[in-house]
Amino acid sequence: MNNRKKMKLNEKQQTLLRTLPGVDHILELIKTEPFFENIPKTVLVRSARTVVENFRMGILDSNQNITEKSLSDNCVLEQVKAQVKTAMTPNLRRVINATGVVVHTNLGRSLLAADAVENLMTIASRYSNLEFDLSVGKRGSRYSCVEDILCEISGAEAAMVVNNNAGAVLLSLETLARGKEVIVSRGELVEIGGSFRIPDVMAKSGAILKEVGTTNRTHPKDYENAIRDDTGLLLKVHKSNYDIVGFSAEVSLRQMVVLGAKHRIPVMEDLGSGSFIDFSKYGMIKEGTVQESVAAGADVVTFSGDKLLGGPQAGVIVGKKEMIAQIRQNPINRALRIDRLTLGALESTLRLYRDPEKAVEAIPTLRMLTCSYPSIETKAKQLCDMLKRLNNPNVYIEMTNRSSRVGGGALPLQELPSKCVGVRVKGMSANAIERFMRKNTPPVIGRIEDDFFIMDLRTIETDELLIIKTAFDNMFREV
Ligand SMILES: *Cc1c(COP(=O)(O)O)cnc(C)c1O
Repeated sequence: MNNRKKMKLNEKQQTLLRTLPGVDHILELIKTEPFFENIPKTVLVRSARTVVENFRMGILDSNQNITEKSLSDNCVLEQVKAQVKTAMTPNLRRVINATGVVVHTNLGRSLLAADAVENLMTIASRYSNLEFDLSVGKRGSRYSCVEDILCEISGAEAAMVVNNNAGAVLLSLETLARGKEVIVSRGELVEIGGSFRIPDVMAKSGAILKEVGTTNRTHPKDYENAIRDDTGLLLKVHKSNYDIVGFSAEVSLRQMVVLGAKHRIPVMEDLGSGSFIDFSKYGMIKEGTVQESVAAGADVVTFSGDKLLGGPQAGVIVGKKEMIAQIRQNPINRALRIDRLTLGALESTLRLYRDPEKAVEAIPTLRMLTCSYPSIETKAKQLCDMLKRLNNPNVYIEMTNRSSRVGGGALPLQELPSKCVGVRVKGMSANAIERFMRKNTPPVIGRIEDDFFIMDLRTIETDELLIIKTAFDNMFREV
């Protein structure tokens, strides 16, 4: 900054700075343009200021070629228009996920099923029996709308839900083991994205982490030898985003439950992305389901609502009646309270699981994970043809075989064979294509591989193909 102040301005820069219109002048100009009629005053003033400031910086930066013409009223108004458009567009908006990562945390994780959206809209815009028991006309429980269905599909005695699974883990640890030791295998001290680490969450809950075993091998006797008077909990954590292969051994949840029963210590499992569907039925790697964890006898099982479950962001806690009752009564629960929109969407999503085959079709996350290769290939061919028909000699388009990923800290080793469309443009880097597509309305988020801009058709809906085509049409006109 200091350097800039001392910088001597040349004559052209001085002239341009004198020509630069003031904010007041711009606000006068605006009055002649119908475009600005219904725009709030604050937005107009902020946009005008930004434009003036951008021009000022541009003039001071000798690398930018600001001319007197670019400072004309018309050009300035165009810039203000662009600023206003940006300011009036919601910051959180839909994008097209062309990454092939199905549960993409940065892009919103799971898309809701149609039933869930419908229920969410009703609950959002109307009063509801959120905490009102309609059968007796008195205050009711916030969790009653999902507890029955959760018990029905998981086999658990009781259930509740909070804001997200990180909250569910924190709340459960705080309730069951504050000031006591919690025994965890060294192979399960997970870090997932967004700074959730088991040792840190444990510390914040007031529980004392007792690591046992080694990174690759933990045996029942490791847990048993670590049990003391102040042991409060045996904890199993789903490895989520990694796996330990080779010379490895882990203690099953069932073995931990037997040990816990012998020493009268509760057992909890953090399943991460808990699923009610056995994905091995769809040719994928076998992952334990929520039902299996409950059947193994865990006292408490926690999992996410928006990973493999395919619902809204939520943390589900199922388990033994007395444990869930204790967790509910914890005052921290109030700080992690689930809101009614989420509850509405979650209830509808859970109900779909009564018929697993229907669930796999109706819940977008499950549909994308289990969809057939030929159906992806059909979409890829469609997109490829659409782009080829744009007929630009500087553009190279090809279909390629690649792997999609599950994402969301689930099934990290699962390969999902998929069909992609790759685009290369003469005189344009893959990075430049990526940027152009990212700036599209709506943004198209793909990936770059081997100097190609790659779009994976697994996560692209058929009705999004036309949007992608139009975006490329606009790009190709420029090259
Ligand atoms: C993802 C995950 C969490 C956190 O769940 P959120 O719903 O993202 O809060 C906790 N534990 C494990 C093992 C996970 O995989």
